[in-house]
Amino acid sequence: EVFDQMNLHESLLRGIYAYGFEKPSAIQQRGIVPFAKGHDVIQQAQSGTGKTATFCAGILQNLDYSILECQALVLAPTRELAQQIEKVMRALGDYLQVKCHACVGGTSVREDTRILQGGVHVVVGTPGRVYDMLRRQALRADYIKMFVLDEADEMLSRGFKDQIYEIFQLLPSKLQVGVFSATLPPEALEITRKFMNKPVRILV
Ligand code: AMP
Repeated sequence: EVFDQMNLHESLLRGIYAYGFEKPSAIQQRGIVPFAKGHDVIQQAQSGTGKTATFCAGILQNLDYSILECQALVLAPTRELAQQIEKVMRALGDYLQVKCHACVGGTSVREDTRILQGGVHVVVGTPGRVYDMLRRQALRADYIKMFVLDEADEMLSRGFKDQIYEIFQLLPSKLQVGVFSATLPPEALEITRKFMNKPVRILV
């Protein structure tokens, strides 16, 4: 299968090709369409498989670009990874004029607040800073409809479980959830049981 057959927006396809991707990787072939259709997905995949573009494409396909509100939230275990994901999101969504922001620790809270108040479609961040922004209502949760946990096993082993649960409590109950994880330890399975609805499970 090719990207052209996934029913993606023309502008998203342009972004994907402009980024240099010609053919979808195995995980992209199996994962983009279910996520774009609105299903909850658990994707068991290592980094290096193309998982980032899988959830970025799914998110970019389903944003409502006519409203400048945060509609998708992505959590990652490290600042570097969050910033890297934000760059990919921005690049693939270049022709859609997507507005993204990386909310990570070690940067100015005031600056984060200012950018969020200016309006974004997608926030990518680490659990601590994202939780802080949600609690301060600098990040408004009302329009968030997609939530992705990237490297979920890694976030759990870094002790982010409580913050992830707190964040779930602050998000709307009608929520599409994507969990990406190399392994599925009991704590990750607990998240899928508690917060996901009939997830499609994809193993690559
Ligand atoms: P990831 O697993 O998301 O960290 O991606 C691993 C690497 O593969 C990154 O350097 C991506 O830019 C690259 N990559 C992802 N998808 C594709 C694709 N469809 N074609 C070529 N390279 C890709």
